[in-house]
Amino acid sequence: MSFSTLGLAEPLVRAIEAKGYDTPTPIQQQAIPTLLEGRDLLGIAQTGTGKTAAFVLPSLQRLDEAGKRPLPYHCRMLVLTPTRELATQIADNARDYAKFSRLSVATVFGGTSINKNRQDMSRGVDLLVATPGRLIDLIEQRYVNLSMLEILVLDEADQMLDLGFIHALRRIVTLLPKQRQSLFFSATMPKTIRTLADQFLRDPATVAI
Ligand code: AMP
Repeated sequence: MSFSTLGLAEPLVRAIEAKGYDTPTPIQQQAIPTLLEGRDLLGIAQTGTGKTAAFVLPSLQRLDEAGKRPLPYHCRMLVLTPTRELATQIADNARDYAKFSRLSVATVFGGTSINKNRQDMSRGVDLLVATPGRLIDLIEQRYVNLSMLEILVLDEADQMLDLGFIHALRRIVTLLPKQRQSLFFSATMPKTIRTLADQFLRDPATVAI
């Protein structure tokens, strides 16, 4: 099993080789073909399983294939994550995976310069990785517009609920177009998370690692 047999295109395969990965992990083997088809996904998986590449790689390919450019203050893909550490990790990986593609990656989280966020957004961003609080601030100030979003990823959903982000999440989701691909990841799947996933996803494939 190789990354190219999963359906990933050459610029991504090259970037993966540069990272030194030879074999896709189980979550990558299961999730990548499904996501390339544009299906929604419910992933029950922890950090350390190769989850980030599993959702970033096929999404970058779909963004690239759609052949659009982000408009100023818009983003095409949003990854919501509970902490700035996770946001930084995801964005660093995404930049590596995107290095032979012409897609931009930016982060938005509290405790850093909001002016830098405004500057990044003014050019439009393909992939935005954000924590909910700072994202809402920027939406309210009209520096982030989600009306043309193509792909939503909710990462570490159980941690987001533990940190009290449920209202922020619901609010963000009301601003998204109905026609989109949605991905929902959680390490655990208690009933509250399952109910939330049902509200966010449409006929999802499920991957449990
Ligand atoms: P994640 O679960 O996304 O936090 O990834 C855990 C770590 O595994 C990260 O440091 C990745 O760079 C690395 N990784 C992801 N996919 C692979 C792979 N197919 N082969 C080797 N390492 C990988």
